[in-house]
Amino acid sequence: MQPRRIKHWGWGYEDEPDTPQFLIDNMESYFSKFFGVSEFNTIAVPALESIALRKPRIDIPERFKDFCTNTHEERVRHARGRSPIDYVKIFNGEYENPPDVVAYVRNEQDIIDVMDWAVGAKAAVIPFGGGTSVNGGVEPRVGDGYEAVITVDTTQLNKVLEVDDTSRCARIQAGALGPDLEAQLKPHGVSLRHFPQSFQHSTLGGWISTRSGGHFATQYTHIDEFVESMRVVTPSGTVATRRMPGDGAGPDPDRLFMGAEGSLGIITEAWVQVQGRSKFRKSIAVFFDDFLTGAEAVRGIAQAGLYPSNLRIIDAEEARVNFVSDKNKDILFLAFESADHPVDAWMDRALEICADHGGQFDRAVMDNPESHRQEEQGRWRDIFMETSYYREITTPREIIYGTMETSVTWDRFPEMYERVTDITGRAMKEATGREGSLSCRFVYVYPDGCAPYWSWYCLGNHGALIDQWKHVKKAAIDEMIRLGGSTTHHTSVGRDHMPWLNAQTDDLFRNMLRAAKRTVDPSWMLNPGVIIPPGT
Ligand SMILES: Cc1cc2nc3c(=O)[nH]c(=O)nc-3n(C[C@H](O)[C@H](O)[C@H](O)COP(=O)(O)OP(=O)(O)OC[C@H]3O[C@@H](n4cnc5c(N)ncnc54)[C@H](O)[C@@H]3O)c2cc1C
Repeated sequence: MQPRRIKHWGWGYEDEPDTPQFLIDNMESYFSKFFGVSEFNTIAVPALESIALRKPRIDIPERFKDFCTNTHEERVRHARGRSPIDYVKIFNGEYENPPDVVAYVRNEQDIIDVMDWAVGAKAAVIPFGGGTSVNGGVEPRVGDGYEAVITVDTTQLNKVLEVDDTSRCARIQAGALGPDLEAQLKPHGVSLRHFPQSFQHSTLGGWISTRSGGHFATQYTHIDEFVESMRVVTPSGTVATRRMPGDGAGPDPDRLFMGAEGSLGIITEAWVQVQGRSKFRKSIAVFFDDFLTGAEAVRGIAQAGLYPSNLRIIDAEEARVNFVSDKNKDILFLAFESADHPVDAWMDRALEICADHGGQFDRAVMDNPESHRQEEQGRWRDIFMETSYYREITTPREIIYGTMETSVTWDRFPEMYERVTDITGRAMKEATGREGSLSCRFVYVYPDGCAPYWSWYCLGNHGALIDQWKHVKKAAIDEMIRLGGSTTHHTSVGRDHMPWLNAQTDDLFRNMLRAAKRTVDPSWMLNPGVIIPPGT
């Protein structure tokens, strides 16, 4: 099975390259009014063939020619991820760090052989799943200490190898893309039920290595929670962890590789828990006049032990920008689901808590089994995955579309919300000279805290978009770190978030990671510059 591929310059499949027209219309109408402009200074994406690349710096030995390539097209396709910087550079035709070789590995032996070759060639090795990294995790920006870069594309490792119906687990190869692994699990009546917004174009190995978050708002939503065991190929050998439902025997080896973002080894397969498909569902939209009061209702629900599948409050601007609602209200999307039992009692209790905080809702909508497809709920559901196309619409029109997410305990949330909102708004004005659109929503909720996610749009200038974006991003994340939050709640560190990862961890811990890396990767070839800073 050959997975369909993402188009090289944006979102969606290469055989359906058009950007959905309604999204273009939405964005143009909203932002022309917002910024008071009649048209945008729009540039076109360069044709793939016209992109200039430096020559490959190493030749492919004869024995690797079956699965390694250095064609112009493959090097372009593996030169960039999907960060705001990537989008600007894609539209400018700037590909200053292409890989020299792309290895479409077919099995673990291919990976071992490529690593041996890389040691001799003094090459860096970059693991590549779907390439949806939003922080420079797959860009071969490795510095001058390497004579070449070999990108290891895992997408040929795309099979569900085994399903254990009794324990409800599956053994899945790491390069399986979201839709492909779900299609293979479906005949078994189960689902991994892990749906990050990038689901369509990202892989199991990418999810595990970045500790991705799926779109369910509470409980089992992080891929970490599903992983039972895995196999990881490193330059010093292969690590196979033990398949167990839980384990108190010392530090957990899976946890060392999860979140290492390819700096400690290449994950080739994992045993993961799967779940029955949901049969019982209830969902409703609850409206609030004030975001922080709505957030208090969310805290009440999270601390009541109810675990909704959706518990996402979006503010009024988030609802407007995405054409979900212009009622000028904050909206809490609340849903419960189960493969096993009706969920009415949980919903009733959650709505009581909403009512106690002034939430307004119409219970009657739940009589319709299709309520999740109607009104605000339906519009949010439809637009949520489509927002993945936004950057290919905004970037060529000089609109900077930035996002950042953090996590913070409830006691510190109000200050975090007020400060980050204030600083981001001011930074947009400093960077571009005019007000921008700024909105906030929750992506995940825990009994002890939440993960707020800000989206912002400002009108920049071609030629300055990256610096303008960096100015806003830095102001906001500096503040998040100062207030004790995380540099990222779920969208990874990559190369771009390294300064803030270093700011939130101890020197001693970084030395422990360096020691681990030196053990498995003595030539320091695996994804250099990501997660583990160089040093003694
Ligand atoms: C539009 C959009 C929406 C997104 N939404 C979400 C979201 O909802 N939740 C979320 O968590 N993230 C999200 N992301 C970020 C991104 O999709 C995730 O980080 C995802 O886990 C990356 O998977 P991938 O297969 O594309 O990995 P890649 O982008 O190919 O790689 C990511 C990192 O993992 C390493 N890696 C990849 N495969 C392996 C492997 N087999 N072994 C070891 N290392 C490996 C790479 O070297 C790189 O450092 C989004 C990104 C975009 C563009």
